[in-house]
Amino acid sequence: MTERYDRHTLIPDWSQQALTDASAVIIGVGAVGSEVARLLAQAGVGRLLVCDPDSVAESNLSRGTGYGPDDVGRPKATVVADALQAREPKLAVTARVADFRHGVGLAELRSADLVLSCLDSVTDRIALASRCNLVEAGMLDAGTHPWGGEVRYHPTGGTCFACGVPAGERALSAWHVACADPPRLAGASAPVSALTAAWQATLAVRILFGLPVDAGAVRLDPLTGESRPVLLRRDPECPCHRRLDPDRITRAGLDTGATVADVLALVRPEEQPLVWQSVDPLGSTSLRAASPNATLADLGVPPGEILPVVRPPADVRYLELEKEALG
Ligand SMILES: [Zn+2]
Repeated sequence: MTERYDRHTLIPDWSQQALTDASAVIIGVGAVGSEVARLLAQAGVGRLLVCDPDSVAESNLSRGTGYGPDDVGRPKATVVADALQAREPKLAVTARVADFRHGVGLAELRSADLVLSCLDSVTDRIALASRCNLVEAGMLDAGTHPWGGEVRYHPTGGTCFACGVPAGERALSAWHVACADPPRLAGASAPVSALTAAWQATLAVRILFGLPVDAGAVRLDPLTGESRPVLLRRDPECPCHRRLDPDRITRAGLDTGATVADVLALVRPEEQPLVWQSVDPLGSTSLRAASPNATLADLGVPPGEILPVVRPPADVRYLELEKEALG
């Protein structure tokens, strides 16, 4: 009789236990993200959090993993999580049907062993890079073009995705709070998406094993039959490297079912507790501008979020919400 992971034991440097103990957050479960989720689950990663705001469309059925005709109209994150759970009963998988800014808290990014970006817009990638940098989380990004793909690894403290974007394109001052651009649609196919996802998943397991993985980008070019590393340089002008001081973070003992009034009870009258997204049509990010009875979930605050609390004139501390237990 053979065991499920018998062939893995023959791979140099493979540690099944390391994968069992590992957790990964996958942002975006479209063509690339659903495939990389399948590969990591099948490899034996123990805990996955998959996040996507979109529902399965007919045009998604030509790519991606886990979608079928009966899933059209259902949330991609839920469909993918259900498919993963069915094939990997021991996997602890959590689905978040939301934009990642509302779906995955900063503390959840921080505590994951790896954050995989499978997004389809530059703006979203920069926003995710900014959020990862806030809590020093590494980010492994993948994207496709019609006949190839690119995988970028950004360990903590080095380059981020935004460093490689021309300054003019990242001109918004606060990418981590910017709303998403509509993605620019480009040609995509199952073979190219799977190729890119497989490269991303291979690097992911090596990172989870603690094996050397070069920072920077790898371009996959099936037209020439080449994969080429591309060195990325840290841009000292990149505005996305703000970091939350861990010594200024306190656990709030609240979850997203808590109300604004519950948060206000934890701060002094002169303090302004903030969220990363606006809470009213005028764009205020102060919880004092929100209804006291509104829950944090009502305001789009994700589990495990870390909320800034500004103390005049220019001091800031942070409140960390409870994470949802994964799986
Ligand atoms: Zn950067």
